[in-house]
Amino acid sequence: MEGYAGFIGILLALLAGLAAGKAWERYKLQDGRWIDRRRGRESPHYMLGLNFLVANQVDAAIDELTRAAEVAGDPAEIRLILGNLYREKGQVGRAIQEHQSLLQRTGLRKLEHANVMLCLGLDYKHGGFVDRALEAFTEVLRLDPGNRYALANLEKLYEEQHQWDDAYATRQKLAQDSTPDARQHHEMILAFLDNERGTQALKRQDYQEAAKRFQAAVDLDPANPPAHLNLGDAQLVAGDTAGAVAAWERLVQAAPERAYLAFSRLEAAYPTLGDPQRYAALCRRLIAENPVDWRARLALARFLEREGRPREAIDPLLEALVHNPHALTLHQGIWQVLSVLELPPDLIRRYIDVTREAVFYMDPHLCVRCRYRSTELLWQCPHCHEWNTFIEERMAPAKDSEATLTS
Ligand SMILES: [Zn+2]
Repeated sequence: MEGYAGFIGILLALLAGLAAGKAWERYKLQDGRWIDRRRGRESPHYMLGLNFLVANQVDAAIDELTRAAEVAGDPAEIRLILGNLYREKGQVGRAIQEHQSLLQRTGLRKLEHANVMLCLGLDYKHGGFVDRALEAFTEVLRLDPGNRYALANLEKLYEEQHQWDDAYATRQKLAQDSTPDARQHHEMILAFLDNERGTQALKRQDYQEAAKRFQAAVDLDPANPPAHLNLGDAQLVAGDTAGAVAAWERLVQAAPERAYLAFSRLEAAYPTLGDPQRYAALCRRLIAENPVDWRARLALARFLEREGRPREAIDPLLEALVHNPHALTLHQGIWQVLSVLELPPDLIRRYIDVTREAVFYMDPHLCVRCRYRSTELLWQCPHCHEWNTFIEERMAPAKDSEATLTS
């Protein structure tokens, strides 16, 4: 996985270099003589270097490209690529040196300057020099306002620094003039950023601004779970229970697989609206719509038990266990009900039968982008930094997984 990501990184480095190279004039006056920029590309060393790159042999590629640069009188586009390759190899100091020396060359045009600056920004980012990276990308945008590489890198840096307002403004620029599909993806991320801005407003006790940001987030992406939860919480604090319930129910509606995040809130709020049975109805509806929903079954069982109907609670609990045998809360819930019922042998036998079929494993939350695993649900992946990429891996009965292994 790492090797593959590294390879993609190298190809991107090459492409960034080539894009920069395109911007260079083919002929240029240097030290009083005309240099033909094609000479670098026509050299066999250049082609060999590219072949080594495609084969992911970075050291050999660097050797050949260095030779190609020497033959052609050190054209800047090859030095730019070399700098990028040093960075991908982890030699950040060397990369910075290469790119800084390019900036020293006289007669750089505006776009050339911007391209070198972009590469330098990537070097700084790679080396963890956040302030210098921010400066470099900002400078790229001053020279070339629509530069999407710079915008994308700048936004990630702002996110890492928790500068959510800046991240939002930068993502907005990226969202401008994008295709409808890309636009939807940008809006999904803008919603998370708005949610973060709202959370920041909450911390400084600016409740009005917070509610505004959470509302903006759900307007951008009606399926954004944390914004719905936070919007409801803000309305509850303001004394508007009906408004809070409406916000949480919109989450259930828009993202039923995340409905469980609102369960405890709704269960507490319904009685104050004079309708406690609405909670059981909600759970039953979710189970009917999605038969593998183990959390709605657990919620229903807990509700029934609290209502003094433990015998009715056991069925949803045992059904839930089939779909998620590793959930400790289910086992605890089952033993709780069994002990209230004074351990009836028939129910204990059913429990043992269900668990015998089960396979247990941990870390059910999986990032679909980089395969990072987590025990808890996360909105942004700590490994690849992408938003909203976690799914819950379905549990399989032991018999099924054995069959898969032997086939
Ligand atoms: Zn990830």
